[in-house]
Amino acid sequence: MEKVPGFDVVRDLPKMGYRGVESCELRFTDCRVPSDALLGEREGQGFAQMMRGLETGRIQVASRALGVGRAAFEDALAYSQTREAFGVKIFQHQSIANYLADMATKLTAARLLVHDAAERVGSGARSDLESGMAKLFASEVAMEIALNAVRISGARGYSPEFDVERYFRDAPLMIVGEGTNEILRQLITKELVRRLSHD
Ligand SMILES: Cc1cc2nc3c(=O)[nH]c(=O)nc-3n(C[C@H](O)[C@H](O)[C@H](O)COP(=O)(O)OP(=O)(O)OC[C@H]3O[C@@H](n4cnc5c(N)ncnc54)[C@H](O)[C@@H]3O)c2cc1C
Repeated sequence: MEKVPGFDVVRDLPKMGYRGVESCELRFTDCRVPSDALLGEREGQGFAQMMRGLETGRIQVASRALGVGRAAFEDALAYSQTREAFGVKIFQHQSIANYLADMATKLTAARLLVHDAAERVGSGARSDLESGMAKLFASEVAMEIALNAVRISGARGYSPEFDVERYFRDAPLMIVGEGTNEILRQLITKELVRRLSHD
């Protein structure tokens, strides 16, 4: 890549999870960006364009959360059918069965929210409320499922030799990225009030 005066990629940032994608520190020092590098064609519209991008961005993060949650659930379900403790497969212990039932139920609910938001975007309707709800719920579900998959996997879930440990480190990015869940809760309530006042 051609070197841009005043712009440097300083270093790779170490991360808890999501190590397959690099995150870097960028440094801008009196960096002048030429007008032909303008993104989005119209000057002064950047904020609005970014905000519109967040609707699909949140569905994308929610979909990633679904993937992590599903992978953690499937590993835990498989392990619960092979590991025996106290004479039975561990899924036959009621407390483990309860975790698995809750995981599957919440995963299904999260998937429906993501599909609902994606269908709205596909139809051209405004979907900031729906994409916010999908990202909020799917990411919290991914966190919970990743944690419970570690519980179900016992010591194995704490070892980097098995994927469950990675899911537990990957899930937190989804509660932070594309608007933290604290901010999203505020946006959801604001949008609920706005829509109700227009009914
Ligand atoms: C691996 C990784 C990749 C990322 N990739 C991207 C990317 O590609 N593009 C991109 O744009 N960003 C990216 N981000 C940045 C991410 O979107 C931000 O980290 C996130 O929005 C939170 O901002 P912050 O880190 O400044 O936290 P802060 O704003 O400092 O938040 C700290 C805490 O305060 C809370 N808080 C802050 N303000 C409020 C408020 N008004 N009301 C209630 N609570 C509040 C937050 O919810 C959080 O709990 C990435 C982050 C990570 C970790």
